[in-house]
Amino acid sequence: MSGAQHPTGRSLAFLTGIPATEVKGIGPKSAKKLGDSGINSVADLLLHVPRRYLDRSQIFDLAAVPLGEEVTVGGTVRSVDRRRISRGRTMITAVITDGTSVVTAMWFNPYLRIEEGSEVVLSGKAERFRGKLQMKSPDVDTWGEDSLVTGRVVPIHSAVGGIRPFRMRDAISNALRRSRPITEILPVQLRERLNLVTRDEAIANVHFPESKEDADAGRRRLIFDEFFRLEVALALRKQHQIEESHGVEHSADGHLVAEFIAALPYELTGAQRRTIGEIQHDMVGRHAMHRLLQGEVGSGKTVVAVAALLTAIQSGYQGAVMAPTEVLAEQHFLGIRDLLAGAGLAPPLEDPPAPAGTESLFSAGSTPESNDRPFVRMALLTSSNAGTNFTPPGAASRDDVVTWIGDGTVDLVVGTHALIQEGLHFDRLGLAVVDEQHRFGVYQRVSLREKAVSYDPDLLIMTATPIPRTLSMTLYGDLDVSILDELPPGRTPIKTHHVASGAASLERVYELVRSQATAGRQVFVVCPLVDDSDKLEVVSATAEYERLRHVFPELRLGLIHGQLPSAKKDRVMHEFRAGAIDVLVATTVIEVGIDVPNATLMVVEDADRFGLSQLHQLRGRVGRGAHAATCVLVADPTTPEGEERLAAMVASNDGFQLAEEDLRIRGQGTVFGTRQAGVKDLKIADILRDAEVLVTARREAFAMVAADPDLQNHREIAAEVEALLGEDEEWLFRS
Ligand code: ADP
Ligand code: MG
Repeated sequence: MSGAQHPTGRSLAFLTGIPATEVKGIGPKSAKKLGDSGINSVADLLLHVPRRYLDRSQIFDLAAVPLGEEVTVGGTVRSVDRRRISRGRTMITAVITDGTSVVTAMWFNPYLRIEEGSEVVLSGKAERFRGKLQMKSPDVDTWGEDSLVTGRVVPIHSAVGGIRPFRMRDAISNALRRSRPITEILPVQLRERLNLVTRDEAIANVHFPESKEDADAGRRRLIFDEFFRLEVALALRKQHQIEESHGVEHSADGHLVAEFIAALPYELTGAQRRTIGEIQHDMVGRHAMHRLLQGEVGSGKTVVAVAALLTAIQSGYQGAVMAPTEVLAEQHFLGIRDLLAGAGLAPPLEDPPAPAGTESLFSAGSTPESNDRPFVRMALLTSSNAGTNFTPPGAASRDDVVTWIGDGTVDLVVGTHALIQEGLHFDRLGLAVVDEQHRFGVYQRVSLREKAVSYDPDLLIMTATPIPRTLSMTLYGDLDVSILDELPPGRTPIKTHHVASGAASLERVYELVRSQATAGRQVFVVCPLVDDSDKLEVVSATAEYERLRHVFPELRLGLIHGQLPSAKKDRVMHEFRAGAIDVLVATTVIEVGIDVPNATLMVVEDADRFGLSQLHQLRGRVGRGAHAATCVLVADPTTPEGEERLAAMVASNDGFQLAEEDLRIRGQGTVFGTRQAGVKDLKIADILRDAEVLVTARREAFAMVAADPDLQNHREIAAEVEALLGEDEEWLFRS
């Protein structure tokens, strides 16, 4: 490494700029392999921590090894034999001795690499066969150069792109030797208060520990560092938003919100009241709001969102609601329209509405203008549908709606994300509500800002899926969070059952469907996902609908899926809402936003093919009224994960708990995908396992940025955030 030597060592930020090829033992070929796995710099190499450790004191002598239990043994490979035993199958046999005895190990993995004369460690079960000690398919690790490993603890690095673990260890050892001492970035008081070892110690001890305790302490420090970097970045982003934003100072005292709440047929829950207060407090303030509203399915987020929207409207601004799908946008439009009508803030509606082309809903004398009651003008805009609550059905075109949003005729618009991407201009957007459902995404929220030129509208993000607190701290770490942690009173918990798909159990499910329908209740039947294909999904839902019509000739069945024309979807939903359909056969379009309190039974077919949060959302479509509700998951799971998900659903109604379970089953990488900003930077840390460290790191990071907003006194930390999260800068500073 040729860089100038810093008086106090080399910083990780500096080592990020030194290519891995500078390290002895890494040629261009290895560098290419490393690069493919994201290891480009010396810093990356140093942060490639061992995947586990072997404790020498735990290694058995072959002569004394207990049989039939998991053990670790070590020794020298005396001979290796590779033999093809059948077409495509290779058996590798190796004889290993440690001086006390001999063991024969065998594998059926043709790619296994084991060389005569090398020192290896085998982990697995030993047994005796015809008097000889043998191990079948044990895990095998190679010691490599023994001199590198002085303590009783031996690090096992993972192989990278075909570079074997002990070679990784050698390269890291070389890199470490030339990088130390590695600069500290944390103030000493902070480090001592949190009982963290120095970074130099941490990196050295994680790779080459004297003891397991040293390795653990080192790892804890590196986990803290990963979270801390991310949280500092989020704190800076939040700071930046606050400083840069020119928010709207809304008024919480207008009459719309008060009238709306007074007209509701129920009392708000304490959580709803508190949450509306938090939102209004932000909206009234000078800075733009960035708030996340999360809550359990059925906790009543819609009412809270409407109160926020009315706060903007009564202050003279427009509100917008953005939903992730067209169906959901339409549902939100209808739902909010009805809520407003119910509160007398919009004209009363026929339900279902008159078909397009028939007489106007607004006969003379009932137009909003002729009426001095406050009247909220609503519009729907998606890429295929448009409508309003002040023109007859079918009368408003998309162009009309776009014009009315631009000239201020419309107070409240509901649409898909297309709303923000179509060169659409708002007259005076004051609040955008983004319904993200369970896509934990941060990307879509950015472009909103461009919609208002001279000021920043307030932003409320709603998620229907409860997000474990630790997750919202990383993904939404720059947002303020409101949680609806209380369900409206009178709900009876949904009973969930898992049944196999055999004829006998299906007949019992059908009986249940009939008994609910006979009692005047309604039923959802959700058809399986088909290979992620909307088209096939529609085919299967249609076939299932036809089949069930024969199973239930006496009942009224309906069918809804994403490819029906909007008008048709509307009609089906209206009929279901109005009780004219007993059993609604549906695809996952009904997953969110559907609110029919009279529906008491949810049947999910092939339930093991759905994700846990999806199942929880689906189940949330029932149990919304006074009647007890049931969810039946029909499935013959073929994977352990599928079984775990079903068991979790049967065991729990708690969305937060299920979300954590989901994370545990799938792992953070799959939940967010590798491209999710923030999470992909967590290489050592795990948001669930290391939740406690995350909470600490967040607290410290936000405190540091609050006290030193430009990190003037913490230049090294600023440099590190820049160097290690640099690619994400756009994400960090865009919004
Ligand atoms: P979600 O949080 O899942 O979006 P919704 O906003 O759709 O929940 O509300 C679920 C159901 O609860 C709706 O039928 C709604 O009318 C009802 N609801 C909301 N708030 C209350 C309340 N405070 N008391 C009684 N029912 C309520
Ligand atoms: Mg909802």
